[in-house]
Amino acid sequence: MFDNKETFKSIFQRNLVSKLGKPLEEATQEDVYHVLGSMIREYAGQDWATSNQGFKQRQDKQVYYFSLEFLIGRLLGNNLLNVNELELVRDSLADLGFSLEDVEEQEADAGLGNGGLGRLAACFLDSLASLGYAGHGCGIRYKYGLFEQKIINGNQVELPDNWLEKGNEWEVRRPDKKVEVKFWGRVETQEENGRYQFVTKDAESVVAVPYDVPIIGYGHPHVNTLRLWSAEPKRESSLDTPSNYYGYLDYSRSVESISEFLYPDDSQYEGKLLRLKQQYFMCSSGVQSALRTFNKLGLSYDRLPDKVAFHINDTHPTLVIPELMRILMDDQGYGWDEAWDITTRTVSYTNHTTLSEALEKWPVSMISKLLPRIYMIIEEINKRFCAMLLDRYPGDQERITHLAVIAHDQVRMAHLAIVGSHSVNGVAALHTEILKEREMAPFYALYPERFNNKTNGITHRRWLMHANPKLSHLITETIGNAWITEPGKLNELTTVSQDASFQEQFRAIKRGNKERLAAYILDHTGTAVNPDSIFDVQVKRLHGYKRQLLNILHVMHLYNRLKNDPTFDIVPRTFIFGAKAAPSYYFAKKIIKLINNVASTINQDKAVNDRLKVFFLENYSVSLAEKIIPAADVSEQISTAGKEASGTGNMKFMMNGALTIGTMDGANVEMAEQVGEDNMFIFGLRADEVLNYVHSGSYRPGELVSQDNRIREVVEQLIHPGAFCHREGEFWDIYDSLVAHGDEYFVLRDFAAYAEAHAAIDVAYRDIPDWTRKAVLNTAQSGIFSSDRTISEYATDIWGIEPVSGYWKG
Ligand SMILES: *Cc1c(COP(=O)(O)O)cnc(C)c1O
Repeated sequence: MFDNKETFKSIFQRNLVSKLGKPLEEATQEDVYHVLGSMIREYAGQDWATSNQGFKQRQDKQVYYFSLEFLIGRLLGNNLLNVNELELVRDSLADLGFSLEDVEEQEADAGLGNGGLGRLAACFLDSLASLGYAGHGCGIRYKYGLFEQKIINGNQVELPDNWLEKGNEWEVRRPDKKVEVKFWGRVETQEENGRYQFVTKDAESVVAVPYDVPIIGYGHPHVNTLRLWSAEPKRESSLDTPSNYYGYLDYSRSVESISEFLYPDDSQYEGKLLRLKQQYFMCSSGVQSALRTFNKLGLSYDRLPDKVAFHINDTHPTLVIPELMRILMDDQGYGWDEAWDITTRTVSYTNHTTLSEALEKWPVSMISKLLPRIYMIIEEINKRFCAMLLDRYPGDQERITHLAVIAHDQVRMAHLAIVGSHSVNGVAALHTEILKEREMAPFYALYPERFNNKTNGITHRRWLMHANPKLSHLITETIGNAWITEPGKLNELTTVSQDASFQEQFRAIKRGNKERLAAYILDHTGTAVNPDSIFDVQVKRLHGYKRQLLNILHVMHLYNRLKNDPTFDIVPRTFIFGAKAAPSYYFAKKIIKLINNVASTINQDKAVNDRLKVFFLENYSVSLAEKIIPAADVSEQISTAGKEASGTGNMKFMMNGALTIGTMDGANVEMAEQVGEDNMFIFGLRADEVLNYVHSGSYRPGELVSQDNRIREVVEQLIHPGAFCHREGEFWDIYDSLVAHGDEYFVLRDFAAYAEAHAAIDVAYRDIPDWTRKAVLNTAQSGIFSSDRTISEYATDIWGIEPVSGYWKG
């Protein structure tokens, strides 16, 4: 792209003048960001056009990854890395008096997702482009992404995330590619030449305008598209109500609200009308636009499954199924059976959860009014599915009601997704087994060939090369650069895991990352951190099943011991938390408050604060994750076994050489298989043990409170004013959840095992060479968790595609 530093500097300065009318001397960091961003975007534009032309000429099968969430983060650093200009630009900017790291801070995070599910979609886009697959994202261009979190007096306060305020360098508005989406109205049946035609009358039209973001593949000129849809009013609609211009303004405002906010609920179903509108808006726009591209090939729609794959990320985009049916039947004239065959062969579905509170079900009354034709089709799908079931299980009405797509006046989206697709995958081996054996067992009995596992992954380009450049360099110096395109080769580090000089460099890098995070913490909290302490980190969404409560109760216990036992000797420990709670999740917000109370007491107590500190870092996001994870010594992955489908945070930490303290849950199980249980700290109930307790009803948390003094002490501290509870009964709700309401997440049951695992960490960390060996082995065995591996599996097993362009090897 730029031959050398001098060409870069002169092109850059020319752009500064032409784009902003500023000479270098007057440029701010923000100016540098905007100009640099636009230069990279324009440069990628060439390859973007060439890629699209190639897809068309070769008639490559196109994958469309539908997701209500893409948690992208910042793009400047990642794009510079992928076009292989990161070093040159960093050095050139330094010559001009700017730090690339500071310039990168000018970019707003694209926070168009809640957590793991949205981040997975973003990692997948990076892998699709980097491996040279024709695979694109389809989503919504929310005007406001996930809320910004402030902590005020220890409580979470939410601010709107105005991420577009300063413009978005990466997107291109494409009004020429707009489509129309229809809501409300009524379906009329007309008979034409003996065929029924369904026409929706009096519908409300919404214009969907795409904003395209180029997704640049690493090291080669392959660029895919993330197409994000924005809702706009249809100007001509004002002609429908000529006498009432105010009516038009109301309509206009209601349309714009469709793409205004991301719903901030993670692993929680919200049955709001606006959310349903968002789902159909995205599905209809994405399907129409993909079919328009397909149409240009001039092929029969019979060939659609050979040329197009629609993947739905969780059930949020399930309406892709009836929408494709509608278009095939009502617009393309197909009969039901052919349309159904084409649709099911085109669509595939990923399940992300077994939590019942997260399973989407929409009231029939809501769907049938908002989307009358779509509802008719869902009804027909249900009717035919139930008829098939009746045939197969005569008289078994109970089973049929249990499996039906529509029951008890609700549409069950997971059932619709399974029935209407050819592939259903879980996201880790354990999760897929639980789906097959438990949650979806009757569906597995019906369609065993549809179920498969695709263990999640993370892009090692963002999470290792970009977030931890020094470690990346050390790895390349040690084993060469083949690991970059074949991350499995990271395992070649195994041979140096005990090498003293390698270990020393590895530790120096971790130490440098810890110093950087310590500076961030000092800057943001005013409290100093000892970079020689163990950095013990739990960062993820706040949720009961993720058990931040177990972590903080154990911290309270450590404090109690330090206060009461002068002989108690621990390696200094810094506990770091980061977590957003859904704004309506009362219990989760109480836990944030508890963590902050504990942090403030401990950090101010001179008797312990040379050995123990606790921080809650506000506004956990992708860019904050990139600062925290490379600095972690210990990764907390402590969900109640059976509840975390996979986790991806766990993989990021592992890749950066942190040791995991974790339960046998989600992908932790496969991490343990890779690196060995000796190189992790595994504790607690197994998934089947949790299930047995639930079935037998025999768990008695109250007994643990009376038997275990450590537990009794911390539980009492939740309600009696003292070190952690600042007014009588401040944490009654947490206390009750544990003691009175049965401790749903087995926090107290796992407390003793967890404390023991932490004691083992304390012992292990004292043996620095052996700890380092374990850390190196974690990095070495993490290659399989690159999303490149995951995406190749999706490509081969589910989508039936091959790379259309290969890696650049240089
Ligand atoms: C990776 C990531 C997550 C998912 O973390 P888990 O520990 O798997 O829940 C959530 N949020 C952000 C910002 C992430 O980068």
